[in-house]
Amino acid sequence: MPELPEVEHVKRGLSPKIIGELITGVTFSEKVTIGKSAGKQTIIKGTDLETFQRNITGSTIKALDRRSKYLIFTLENELQEHFIISHLGMSGAYFVVDQLEDIGVPNYINHWHVTIHLQSGRLLVYSDIRRFGELRYIERLEDAAQIMAIAPEPFDDGASDYYLTQLKSSRWQEKTIKEAIMNHSVVSGCGNIYACEALHLAKINPNRKVKRVTKSKRIELFQAIVHVLNEGIKYGGSSISSYRNVEGKEGYMQTRFKIYGRKTCGTCGGPVTAKVIATRNTHYCTHCQK
Ligand SMILES: [Zn+2]
Repeated sequence: MPELPEVEHVKRGLSPKIIGELITGVTFSEKVTIGKSAGKQTIIKGTDLETFQRNITGSTIKALDRRSKYLIFTLENELQEHFIISHLGMSGAYFVVDQLEDIGVPNYINHWHVTIHLQSGRLLVYSDIRRFGELRYIERLEDAAQIMAIAPEPFDDGASDYYLTQLKSSRWQEKTIKEAIMNHSVVSGCGNIYACEALHLAKINPNRKVKRVTKSKRIELFQAIVHVLNEGIKYGGSSISSYRNVEGKEGYMQTRFKIYGRKTCGTCGGPVTAKVIATRNTHYCTHCQK
């Protein structure tokens, strides 16, 4: 599943290719067309296909931002801003190409679902093998409830204080620290892989209850989260599952993991414990993490 660093890479890769482009049309795959006509929410959420097409055609792409794991396309038409919110689900990817075949990865060519036609003649293509991703048209950002509920970006001033305040809530005291940091109302964009890595770096056992983590360890953990997310961005994201960047390439952060997906601890060389915590497969070292 693409996590924050991977989505950040998609944003950085896409931005120079699409900002300033005028949208001249949209086409949908057969799977999307059939799904939507059967009343499902296949990839295009909230509106029918004709409305989505009509609402974005004729608009210029003004900006592309990331909020947690969401991409926010700001569109402008006659000085009015409006938006597409997109989530990559388990296996979504964006490409900007002259023709579909130029994507270069057969799976992503076969599983294209939304093609946004640009005035330059290029295509902004959304591909998604498992179809858990989404594109949602909204008129105002305030209408995106899923985004309004997210904690500040971990790199922003105030994110650490926000996290410390959230952890004091009675809601979290009996919960494991791992569950808390993976909740986007506590930390924005800390998914399973990076949560495992951050807990390892901060030397905290993921089973530890929030009430049993001292304030100084809580602060250390937040710094570790910021560190691993930054490392993830620096090394192109990880390619566990099927993430591909805009160039169709994989990231290589997975080669730098100290604990996630490993048999032996990258710090002490001891065995790695694997256990399901907060519904996700969790890796940790009982020697290094207390
Ligand atoms: Zn260890």
